[in-house]
Amino acid sequence: MASDHVDVLIIGAGLSGIGAACHLRRDCPDKTYAVLEARDAIGGTWDLFRYPGIRSDSDMFTLGYSFKPWTAPKAIADGTTIREYVRETAREYDVPRHIRFRHRVLRAEWDSDTARWTVHAQRTDTAEIVVLTCSFLFACAGYYRYDEGYTPPLPGVEAYAGRLVHPQHWPDDLDHTGKRVVVIGSGATAVTVVPAMAQRAAHVTMLQRSPTYVLALPARDPLADALRRWLPAKAAYPVVRWKNVLLSTVNFQLSRRAPGLVKRVLRRAARGRLPVGYDVDRHFSPRYDPWDQRLCVAPDGDLFTAVRDGTASVVTDTIDTFTATGVRLASGAQLPADIVVTATGLNLLALGGLTLRVDGVDVDLPNTVAYKGMMLSGVPNFALTLGYTNASWTLKADLVAGYVCRLLRHLDRTGQQVVTPLPPPDAERVPLIDLRSGYVLRAVDTLPKQGATTPWRLHQNYARDVLLMRHGRLTDEGVRFSRAGEMPVPDRTRPPVASERR
Ligand SMILES: Cc1cc2nc3c(=O)[nH]c(=O)nc-3n(C[C@H](O)[C@H](O)[C@H](O)COP(=O)(O)OP(=O)(O)OC[C@H]3O[C@@H](n4cnc5c(N)ncnc54)[C@H](O)[C@@H]3O)c2cc1C
Repeated sequence: MASDHVDVLIIGAGLSGIGAACHLRRDCPDKTYAVLEARDAIGGTWDLFRYPGIRSDSDMFTLGYSFKPWTAPKAIADGTTIREYVRETAREYDVPRHIRFRHRVLRAEWDSDTARWTVHAQRTDTAEIVVLTCSFLFACAGYYRYDEGYTPPLPGVEAYAGRLVHPQHWPDDLDHTGKRVVVIGSGATAVTVVPAMAQRAAHVTMLQRSPTYVLALPARDPLADALRRWLPAKAAYPVVRWKNVLLSTVNFQLSRRAPGLVKRVLRRAARGRLPVGYDVDRHFSPRYDPWDQRLCVAPDGDLFTAVRDGTASVVTDTIDTFTATGVRLASGAQLPADIVVTATGLNLLALGGLTLRVDGVDVDLPNTVAYKGMMLSGVPNFALTLGYTNASWTLKADLVAGYVCRLLRHLDRTGQQVVTPLPPPDAERVPLIDLRSGYVLRAVDTLPKQGATTPWRLHQNYARDVLLMRHGRLTDEGVRFSRAGEMPVPDRTRPPVASERR
């Protein structure tokens, strides 16, 4: 194993890692690659999460790959269909034979003399350490911890005698038929799980400290349904994809420029789906502006329907304490519960917990600046995939993978081996993820930063990024190309490599 070398090493076999492998196969077929995956399955998020109703909250025409049309009937699709789509794509591009499952990547060390990464992974079944080398390291490890979801302190929880479940670790044996369920949280997971469980439970209560924007959207895309009747999937797909890109961009830009207007529209839409006299302001009108946090989607308004039908209800209050039989609220009200679901979020984790060293110096992630949202200043031959916060993850993942292939071809064409982003010349730094959600704020200090201007600034705008990353120049003031043995970044604070000492 110690002598194993590949041109590109991909970390993670989720939506992004499989997409990256397909891009390599399409654009750089002569490159050797391997995928190291900590789990024993393809799919990442779409294999891990198994809670009732698990589904996308983006449309699959933009959450799908640019090169693989989404042909299933629903635009907002369930987890199983998405998982099967990712697996089918992997099979079509012969990716599975390149994947080494049960390999958790722990650290990677770059050596400028050889222009190689040495990557240390641990087998999750035998604990054996496996060492590989690669010329380019591509982290597609997602953005959160797989082993543990986030649970805030729950006062008095030890007294609770019912089942307490986190959606990230859904037990196979949990039957909620006829049970009283309390779901704590108001994010995308709560908005998904509440109407799904309400179909069989005695009653489901969504207990939230504060409301979230919930937007009802059709689960099927009417334009896609119409076009598919006349056009082959390959022709219909890009049309629907661009229509959805355009709609989400308009929605986001309008939210930024006229938040009051968008608030009113969302409030009116929610009110129209709720019973007459319902306290919309208390339960569905957040204090923050739309897109300060991700908007939640209710396909065909399922959450509103469950509330209207009385199978689910929303309570906006705080927990005083858990009791043996449920939850007592600050208002004094009691919520009896056979099952409590803590839909309280994720623990953000950069690069799947991987640590990096460049020429013997540890990379301090919060001190790095992202270049084009996909490489890190001072870190040679390394890319990471971080999707959009205001649009589908895969739109960005596709662009990043395509850009990596462009870089690799450029290096070959110019006889160089190394590409290293530089930090911006000015000192201004901005958080890499611009959401105000709790899970982002809890981890923002551990993440790389972005700069104030292009190419270090993320614009969260797909059309703009298409121009920048698919058609823009590869050489600019933010990046340095060099040969093996040369110092990748002249002003790095580290000892010079051998070739520079000469
Ligand atoms: C419940 C849920 C619903 C979501 N819905 C949407 C949505 O509708 N639209 C949207 O745009 N986004 C959504 N997201 C965000 C979602 O994570 C992305 O859309 C997408 O699935 C991310 O794909 P990925 O491959 O980058 O990461 P992941 O799906 O997280 O996959 C990462 C893979 O890397 C592996 N890995 C991690 N660390 C290591 C390591 N050190 N060594 C080896 N392997 C490692 C993991 O085991 C995993 O298989 C959702 C997220 C969640 C949790």
